[in-house]
Amino acid sequence: MTTRRLYYDDSYQREFSAQVLSCEPELHGTTPAWGVVLDSTALYPTSGGQPHDLGKLGDANVLDVRDEGEDVVHVVDREVPLGSVQGCVDWARRLDHMQQHTGQHLLSAMFQERFGRPTVSFHLGSDVCTIDVRGPEPTDEILEGAEHAANQVISEDRPIAVRYGTAEEFAELGVRKEVQRSGILRALEIEGADVQPCGGTHVKSTAQIGIILVRGCTKMRQDWRVEFVCGRRAGRVARHDFLLLQRAAEDLGCAPEDVPASVQRAIAERDAHFKTLKSQLERLAEIDAAAELNAVKPGANGLRVIARVFDQASHAEYLSYFATQLAKAEKAVALLARSACGHLIFAQHPSAGKDMNALLKQVLAQFAGKGGGTRDFVRGKLSDAAQAEKALALAERLVSAG
Ligand SMILES: [Zn+2]
Repeated sequence: MTTRRLYYDDSYQREFSAQVLSCEPELHGTTPAWGVVLDSTALYPTSGGQPHDLGKLGDANVLDVRDEGEDVVHVVDREVPLGSVQGCVDWARRLDHMQQHTGQHLLSAMFQERFGRPTVSFHLGSDVCTIDVRGPEPTDEILEGAEHAANQVISEDRPIAVRYGTAEEFAELGVRKEVQRSGILRALEIEGADVQPCGGTHVKSTAQIGIILVRGCTKMRQDWRVEFVCGRRAGRVARHDFLLLQRAAEDLGCAPEDVPASVQRAIAERDAHFKTLKSQLERLAEIDAAAELNAVKPGANGLRVIARVFDQASHAEYLSYFATQLAKAEKAVALLARSACGHLIFAQHPSAGKDMNALLKQVLAQFAGKGGGTRDFVRGKLSDAAQAEKALALAERLVSAG
């Protein structure tokens, strides 16, 4: 038995009567559910890049709709008795899919016609839709050009019709897609813009797509993934983008149109402050290191070992400057840790003759963490920052013992 697909002839049919031919228990993920086959359905199964519909069969909620050969299987949350049933389509969801899907036909046609970029795949997601186009990287002019041309066709409100014919007949009309199936094919025609074999659901005229908004383009293997949204979704996305811009403008204390310049200024200021901070931290580390080296007495092995745990009041960068300054002195070994984050820095003057890498490995053999570096300078990070003090004590014992 083949399920008659009502949406092929009328994609605007929201309600329908059908006969339940079978209703078998199955799992929806891990949830018990039923798979229902009808003699006819207006519910669209997942296929051709378009997600399935939702809706109802009697009192049962439709959770999924899938193609199974010539049948359409409706996965529902409760058993549906054999015999007659009334079905309905979740119209907001379907109309959204029809707007995105028809918009994709039009956008792909514009990329192909105007810029010679064929579409190799399409995905209709719950937030954004994408097409992958082949060829050199689309410039901003191409992305805007395709969007503009598509919106021009939308504003002309051209009729959209379903055509039936053989692959040869469509080829004569300049159909882009290679079709493997034989026999009579179903194709979508946007008047004066495109003919494309497709079994999906579409709006009746281009104006019903509403608007197409191209939002980005990224490299995807050998192709370019173009992100877009259509119709009500485009309105929602544009409003969301505007709110983000408005919030950024409020935070920066400027008008929305001045956000890019304000951000540039803030970045320049941040970089300048960071440069100043860096040089002051280096200067401070130099002074602190000199005082520290003056105070420390060489041990029995002649080494001047400086071991210190810093709390979070210290800047993370300061530790490496301090270690670098200490390690400039003959026979000096610096063992530093930061209790806030569990970072470790071990550094030595080459004359100290130890191996900081080996030392770090020994410490990390007892306290979980990772890190590495050279013989004279290593950085590490403990998994448990609370162990900083103990880890440093161990390092100090190991250096003094050897
Ligand atoms: Zn289609």
